[in-house]
This record gives sequence, C-alpha cells and structure tokens, in this order.
Amino acid sequence: QQKAVIIGAGIAGIATAIRLAVKGYAVNVYEANGYPGGKLSEFEQSGYRFDAGPSLFTMPQYVDELFALAGKNPANYFTYQKLDVVCKYFYEDGTRLSAYADTKQFAEEIETQTGEPATAVIKHLANSRDIYSITNHVFLERSLHRLKTYLRWDTIRSIFRFPQIDPFRTMHKANASGFKDKRVVQFFDRYATYNGSNPYQAPATLNVIPHLEHHFGAYFPDGGMYSITKSLVKLAEELGVKFYYNYKVDEIVVINGKAKGIRAKGENVLADVVVSNMDIWFTYNRLLSKHPQLHPKKTLNQERSSSALIFYWGIKKQFPLLDLHNIFFSADYKAEFKHIWQQQDIYHDPTVYLNISSKLKPDDAPDGCENWFVMINVPANNGQDWERLITDARTNIIAKLSRLLGEDLPPLIVNESILDPRSIESRTSSYKGSIYGTSSNNQFAAFLRHANQSSKVEGLYFCGGSVHPGGGIPLCLLSAKIVSGVIN
Ligand code: FAD
Repeated sequence: QQKAVIIGAGIAGIATAIRLAVKGYAVNVYEANGYPGGKLSEFEQSGYRFDAGPSLFTMPQYVDELFALAGKNPANYFTYQKLDVVCKYFYEDGTRLSAYADTKQFAEEIETQTGEPATAVIKHLANSRDIYSITNHVFLERSLHRLKTYLRWDTIRSIFRFPQIDPFRTMHKANASGFKDKRVVQFFDRYATYNGSNPYQAPATLNVIPHLEHHFGAYFPDGGMYSITKSLVKLAEELGVKFYYNYKVDEIVVINGKAKGIRAKGENVLADVVVSNMDIWFTYNRLLSKHPQLHPKKTLNQERSSSALIFYWGIKKQFPLLDLHNIFFSADYKAEFKHIWQQQDIYHDPTVYLNISSKLKPDDAPDGCENWFVMINVPANNGQDWERLITDARTNIIAKLSRLLGEDLPPLIVNESILDPRSIESRTSSYKGSIYGTSSNNQFAAFLRHANQSSKVEGLYFCGGSVHPGGGIPLCLLSAKIVSGVIN
C-alpha cells in the first residue's frame, strides 16, 4: 500500500486525507496543534461557545461530495440549513438593508431602502453569474499549472471570453459605473474582502463572488462551523486515516529531487507522497530551509491578503434586531481601505462584522444571552504596534455599535478574548497572519499563486488557502480535489 503523509489538519489537509484514503493510500496526518481544523476551530469561554475563524458557510456541496465519494450519506454526518436572510447591513446614515437570499426580494429591498432600481441589481447579479460560468472550470476547479487544463475545450472557450470577466478595471470602478447609489456600490465592493482583497485595487473579476452567495446561497451548519471539521475528521478516521496531534513537522525530507517523507520529533517518517497543508511561505522557509535553491522567490514574495482582528464577547442580553450575520459599514470605505493597504494601520471608523451563532444555535450562549464574534479587516502583520492599534480599535468599535444599536455596550460584555494577526500567525503558521494566503489585488493573482504540485520535487504536493485556487473553505476544499487529482 502506498503511504501518504499530510502536514497539517486544516480543512484542506483533512479533505486531502479523505480523498487519498478513498484512493487506497495509507494516510497519516501530522498536526502541530492539539486539535484539528486550523483556522476552522472552536473554543469555549465561560458558558459561551465560539467558532474561532470562518463564520460564513457557502458551497456546502463540496463538503457533501467528500461523504458521497466515500460511499456515505452526508446527512448521517453533517447537516445544515439555508439562510433566508444572508446578512443584515447597517449604514451610518441610518439605512438598514436585509440581503435576502431570493434574488427578486433582495433587488426589491435594495430599491425600497436606497432608491437604486431593482433592475440594476438583477443585471449586476447576471453579470456575476457570467463571470462564474467563464472562470469556474479554469481558475477554480483545475490545476492552472498543467498543460492538460489549457488543452480542454471549455478552457479554450473561456480564454476567448476573457474580456467578459472584466479583468482590467477595478472592482470599485465597475460597481460605481453600474450603480448610482453609493451605499449600493459599497455593498458590492465589500465582496472583495471575502478573500482579503481591496476593492479599489482588485480586478472587477472578483464581482463573481456575489453569485456564489446569491445563487448557491449561504448556509449554517446545525452544529456550528466547527461541525464541518468534526464531521470530516470522523469520516477520515472511519476510512483509516490516522491523526497525530501536538506533532509539529520540522522538515520535509528531500533526497535526489524526491520527497521521501518528513522529520518530526527527531525521527524520520517515510512516505511515497508528502502533502503540505502548511502555509506555503512557511513550508519553504521552515520545512525546506535546507534547500534554498528550491524556493520560488517571486511566488513567495507576493502581497499577502489582509488579516483580521476579532473580539469574542459574551453578551448578557439578546438583540432581536440582529441576525446571524451583520455588517456595520464605515462612513468612508475608501479611507478604510487606504488605512489597511497603504498605511498598514486601522481606520478610526472601520466596517464591523458581527456574527452571532447563538441566533441559530441557542446553546452557544446562556439563556437570554448572545455570543458575539466581532471582526474587522486589518493589515497583515508587518510588526505594527498591535497593542495600541487593538486598544484604539476596541474603543472605536464599541462606540460605533453602541451608536448604531442605541445601546451602551460595555456593561453588557461579560467576557472577552481577542484574536489578532500575531495570534493567527502563531496558531496556524499563516505567514503575517494573513487569512486567505496571497491577496487578489491584481489581475494576475490567480496565475501567481503557488501550484498544488512541486515542479522540482517529485512526490511533493500542496493544499490549503495559501496555494491554488486560494483561501476560504470552498477553495481550500477544491485545492484538496486538485491535489488528489494529480496524485496517481
Ligand atoms: P489552516 O486552517 O491554515 O490550517 C493549517 C494547519 O496546519 C494548522 O492546523 C496548523 O497548525 C498546521 N500546521 C502548520 N504548520 C505545521 C507543521 N510544521 N507541522 C504540523 N502541522 C502544521 N473562510 C470562509 O470560507 N468563510 C469565512 O467566513 C471565513 N472567515 C474567516 C475568518 C477568520 C478570522 C479566519 C482566520 C479565516 C476565515 N476564513 C473564512 C478562511 C478560512 O478559514 C481558511 O481559508 C481555511 O480554513 C484555511 O484552511 P487550510 O486548509 O489552508 O489550513
């Protein structure tokens, strides 16, 4: 039996383990932390449960697919519900919007609340669908680094339709030319942050993202986000995958251009195939540090995606006005992104994302209470004075939420913990604490991401948010699919 070693039990590492086990490999997964999931993990805080990282679940079919592949019924492991309202939006001028999943209802809501014609919204979403239909086979579902991909008829057809994906102007420019109302422009610009990018720099191709949310929908796993990790680990274990926790890998053993296994805890573990789910920058700089000639410097030096600052607050009250996902927009979006990307600090009026899983999973908080996951986008870690930035951001966020909700928040916060770019980096080995690998701030980003297979070391593969096709749960699951597709 062929042996595969996977470095890291992030969502892509777990999915790759399942796929290789189904292919007949004996799979061992080595994870530095004492738990699986990497960014997709959970914790408990004085009677409140929190999902630590991802909170928005899209494209559940990629999770279901793994159970189906193993001949199991997904519903026996993992259940979820579709959201009728994807997110609630609050603007500083008092405007409130509910982003309904139903396209017509959503377009009408925009028209009612902002005066922007519903037809403009429908047209924008149709454009978003077209971008998806051109890009999904080429950029997302296949390796961009194999000739075979380019010889396929659907790839060739997509290449001819390339101008239609709008790669040469920025997302903001495209949105500002499509909508008159600046609140609606801001609404659609926000989708750039779904992969940690800047709408004032990123190509309008990223306008594909609303299609994923509005066509395929947004979902909530009944057991919370962490149930994605738990159910997939259960499946992997049933397939014979072995997980080793608190097991930090120190080196990928390469001899004569071939990956022979890994070195951890002072011992070598031999394998036919090595898959790193560790961030690509650290994979080279820590695990392949003895082989500097193998390092693809240009790829590794690409701009990183933004990071996040999160306050996890136990709140001793319930807010019927709020939903599972809520956004409190900055009054000046352009200034906010200038601070994140050019000044590398935090704007005094940031856009605040508030997720409350206890809305749909009441046992995540004590009776009459709510678990607040309060997040803002921040720059990747470049050695800023985070203590000062965090203190200021906390004050500004509390003032903003208190103002927009008409409630004095501080007495309601009964417990707190904080995640910032430094702790994201140290807990999951994500270079600079960026949460989606490299940014998509230029039109070539998709081609510049590291491939899923080493071109120099036989038997070495890569999966996860820092390599092709990119960050976020759905793309990480696709990276696992591509990796297992190129392994024989
Ligand atoms: P990671 O989660 O990065 O895990 C890598 C694993 O490798 C870790 O467990 C680490 O400990 C392990 N490892 C590293 N080095 C070693 C070593 N030397 N030896 C052994 N093990 C090692 N995505 C969404 O789809 N929706 C969202 O709403 C969303 N929100 C997010 C919010 C936050 C705050 C964050 C941080 C991320 C968010 N994401 C979201 C992105 C998503 O979480 C990630 O893209 C995805 O979880 C990354 O998975 P991964 O497979 O790349 O591995």
